[in-house]
Amino acid sequence: MNPLHRSRQQQVLVLGGGLMGLAVAHGLARHGWSVHLLRRSRRDAAGFAAAGMLAPHAEGLSGPLLALAQRSLRMIPTWVGAIEEDSGLPCGWLPCGTVAPFTSQAQRQAFPTAALGHPLERAALEAEAPGISPAFTCGLLFPQDSQLDSRRQLMAALERACRRRGVHFAEGVTVERLCQEEDGGGRQRLVGIALRNRDGEKQRLPCGQAVLCCGAWSQQLIPQVSVTPIKGQMFSVQAPRQALRRVLFGPGTYLVPRQDGLVVVGATSEQVGFTPGLTPMGQSRLEQGLRQLLPEAARWPPMERWYGFRPCTRDQQPVLGPGPLAGLVMATGHHRNGVLLAAVTAELTRIALDTDPAGRHNASWAAPFFHSFRWNRFSPAPAQASLRQA
Ligand SMILES: Cc1cc2nc3c(=O)[nH]c(=O)nc-3n(C[C@H](O)[C@H](O)[C@H](O)COP(=O)(O)OP(=O)(O)OC[C@H]3O[C@@H](n4cnc5c(N)ncnc54)[C@H](O)[C@@H]3O)c2cc1C
Repeated sequence: MNPLHRSRQQQVLVLGGGLMGLAVAHGLARHGWSVHLLRRSRRDAAGFAAAGMLAPHAEGLSGPLLALAQRSLRMIPTWVGAIEEDSGLPCGWLPCGTVAPFTSQAQRQAFPTAALGHPLERAALEAEAPGISPAFTCGLLFPQDSQLDSRRQLMAALERACRRRGVHFAEGVTVERLCQEEDGGGRQRLVGIALRNRDGEKQRLPCGQAVLCCGAWSQQLIPQVSVTPIKGQMFSVQAPRQALRRVLFGPGTYLVPRQDGLVVVGATSEQVGFTPGLTPMGQSRLEQGLRQLLPEAARWPPMERWYGFRPCTRDQQPVLGPGPLAGLVMATGHHRNGVLLAAVTAELTRIALDTDPAGRHNASWAAPFFHSFRWNRFSPAPAQASLRQA
């Protein structure tokens, strides 16, 4: 629906103001929506922890997730342009490509996206990733992959772009419950949000349309969709500028070189619930990974250490489009690819909100994605299934 044809400005609440909340809010505000964004805390957002790789090919994605990611990747230049235009700030987009190194030809041939990369033999691999460990005999170059500086630039640019586009921010607000009623046709519909404000007071906001963007905490509001936190620890080192020009995506460890020479080293993947903090074991595993991938990088001075929680569903793929309540749209579960998928998620969310009650919208490309990433695609949880069998 063209916003100019709307009889009055439509209102929507965005629940959560991390990467997805900001991307969705910005996209909607640019299309004439009146957007209120509620967030509990700015700093706990995984968007501030992400390495920012836009690397569906080095990640070896496949099936509908690869198609979704490739679509998002194609949208990045325009999406970044809009954020930079609205905010006046850079997002740190670098079309630098990624290099995936392998210890054998067989390993390379078996890589899911091998056909989409340029094969590199040892000399070419060394030229693309100077100083790479001799253990790696060949590689794949994916020039189509890139990166965004999510932690230092993209998040701040998105926040400012949202404010300048008139998004209203309610900070320190915890959404506690989604209020629902039967809509007369046997379906439950969203009618309000129960929340606790920054002073600890409980309130209820009437609301007919909302987008769920609560990241790793999403299941607290929608218990029927399993989203669990996967903790990731990281650190950065300061390299000489241009020491590394491409993202180096090794087995278990990756290096993401920013334009100013900072190199982000990631990342652990831990199932420890919301246990906060860095651990000696996590950090030493990263340091070991760095030494094994690029031995000389172990001499570069360490700069910063941090962690965040990835929102992970049972199939490690996002949940997008219409939710379990009429009026609720889902934008969660992006796990390790949220930065990569933010552009397409913002667009799909806008299309879902512009869909009429009969399910019609004017973007035929979106329908297969709404199907592949629907909230109710999961079979019963294994524990429940085995209980039933027993
Ligand atoms: C270590 C690490 C490295 C990563 N690297 C990459 C990468 O290289 N490339 C890539 O594409 N992706 C990467 N990711 C993944 C990416 O960061 C996430 O997929 C993405 O940030 C998820 O965005 P989100 O908005 O869903 O969640 P978040 O950014 O975590 O935001 C959720 C927000 O919701 C708020 N919230 C939660 N519950 C409530 C509530 N009840 N009421 C109000 N507010 C609430 C939180 O306070 C938070 O601000 C990485 C993640 C981590 C942790």
